[in-house]
Amino acid sequence: MRLYHVFEGTIAACEPLVRAIGYERLEKPVAVVERGIKGAMFDCQMCGQCALSSTGMSCPMNCPKNLRNGPCGGVRANMMCEVKPDMPCVWVKAWEGSQDLFGKASILDVQKPVDNQLKGKSSWLRVIREIRAKRDGKIAPAKATARGFASNTIR
Ligand code: SF4
Repeated sequence: MRLYHVFEGTIAACEPLVRAIGYERLEKPVAVVERGIKGAMFDCQMCGQCALSSTGMSCPMNCPKNLRNGPCGGVRANMMCEVKPDMPCVWVKAWEGSQDLFGKASILDVQKPVDNQLKGKSSWLRVIREIRAKRDGKIAPAKATARGFASNTIR
């Protein structure tokens, strides 16, 4: 998990290069790489508005109800999913994962509703865009940090 935070910082440092090449030109290839890496590591569904840094690296899009702000209340006594009894509750895993992260409180961040227009797009490029927007003073600083993975301010 810490490795992932280092990775976030690394992609943020790429902003000048990304800008020079062009966000639109990079969208497809970066999305393909992101899908491969995050798919293997987190079973990423490419929602385009990544919340992993606020959900203990447990992808909320794997919740059968796609809940992004905590469990539904139907979690079984054995911590398994109400809809898929063989699957651990995504939000139990999120809570456990969040306790290992530096910013434990980030799980308390309220996630905005999923914007389906972003499905399939790169969250990495989105984070880089947000960092640039922060530098340009277009969004509040708190939205452009590593927790920007949970922000819905930039398309
Ligand atoms: S929150 Fe979205 S981008 Fe992040 S791992 Fe899940 S589906 Fe992928």
